[in-house]
Amino acid sequence: MSLSEKLIANSNLTIESLLKAVNKYETPFYIYDEKMIIDRCNDLLNMPNAYGIEINYAVKANSNKTILQIINNQSLSFDASSLNEVRRIKMANIPYKKITLTTQEVPEGKDRKDLEEMMKKGLKYNVCSILQLKLIADFASANKIQLSMRVHPGVGSGESATRNTGDKYSCFGVHLTDIEEALKYANSKKIIFNEVHVHIGSGADPVIWRENIDRELSFVEIYFPETDYVNFGGGLKIARMPGEKAADISSLGNYAKKKIEEFNKKTGRKLVMKIEPGTFIVANAGFLVTKVIDIKKTGKNGFYFIVTNGGMEVNARPLFYGSKHPFYLISKTGKMISNEFNISKLSKTKDQRVIVGRCCESGDSQCLDETGHIVPRIAGNPEIGDYLTIGGCGAYCSTMTPYNYNSHSQVIELLLRKKSTDIDLIRKKQSLKQMIANEINLRNI
Ligand SMILES: *Cc1c(COP(=O)(O)O)cnc(C)c1O
Repeated sequence: MSLSEKLIANSNLTIESLLKAVNKYETPFYIYDEKMIIDRCNDLLNMPNAYGIEINYAVKANSNKTILQIINNQSLSFDASSLNEVRRIKMANIPYKKITLTTQEVPEGKDRKDLEEMMKKGLKYNVCSILQLKLIADFASANKIQLSMRVHPGVGSGESATRNTGDKYSCFGVHLTDIEEALKYANSKKIIFNEVHVHIGSGADPVIWRENIDRELSFVEIYFPETDYVNFGGGLKIARMPGEKAADISSLGNYAKKKIEEFNKKTGRKLVMKIEPGTFIVANAGFLVTKVIDIKKTGKNGFYFIVTNGGMEVNARPLFYGSKHPFYLISKTGKMISNEFNISKLSKTKDQRVIVGRCCESGDSQCLDETGHIVPRIAGNPEIGDYLTIGGCGAYCSTMTPYNYNSHSQVIELLLRKKSTDIDLIRKKQSLKQMIANEINLRNI
């Protein structure tokens, strides 16, 4: 037994630091490893590139103020998915000029006025529809503000820009077949697009990510003569579970570099590359720590359930997507009972277990497939009061969960500091009072 054992390689998070955290703070909680976040930022900043690279962190992955500030200190910029995200980034003392807004929203009223103010102060607006373009065109033109356009590229490999193989099931961006109409309108208003953006999706297959580079450059060449920045979006694949393979960002960078250099030879233009990963930066730096509160079995042909005090309301990704996150069972005294990255000592038949949460919802399980069915996993045999730590919980967990379901409180967030084993509280637990604070007392009820 070694308290200095790390949960994953290259992390500062040891069993000892976990014990320190559980002794001081109430579970469940998220704990983020500052060092890993900084290391991932540096990996991205060091990606090979032709004429420069800018990294926008996709804030929706994890929008805690401290996380934003850590990333800001690494000289990354930010991608916001809503006006409120822009406001939130600003509230972390990050200036508008470091933020790009890429949203499905169509701001009206006060939001619309705020958007204009933000743009005057340097917010980059990445228009995602012809309507968004039309609504902002006069303002942008009058204030000589250049825009970005999100293009819906279609999905396909190596096709020409004019061939529409678009995925009709998503509507993010101006579809390639509408580009000419959008540009005709923009030209009539003297709008300049100095950035073109494509985001093909999260956890994208690196092969398709590469193909998108070719496709995007081909339509930048045809349609966007004034563009200086080519934004390839986020979606860099990472490995959460044993056996998963992360995208090789150095090879993706080299590929993009080569293509941007070829583009330069052809056109004389020097494009700066932008990317906007969320998952890549924070996912594996975050751990969710829960406590085992009950153990139940469902008969001979049933399952062995480990009930914890945090499930879908702290990590909904298994329920939403059938995502798998690695499990670490750690005893009260700091013994690693099982670590999903090393299950050789466990029995493939006897150690089949199902992790569930405490919500009144049979889908409240961390062991689901894409169809919502329970699939047991190999895990050790904990006692009540032991800890289940779930890896890969830094992205789209705290920001995405239905945390007040069953009136559970939004849980605390901790930061394991870079240089020491210090652990700082970076978000308090929500109180029940806060949960109902906006409800109105009717007199005549
Ligand atoms: C969600 C999103 C991202 C980040 O995706 P990850 O898979 O977390 O890297 C980047 N850009 C846009 C426009 C997004 O919507």
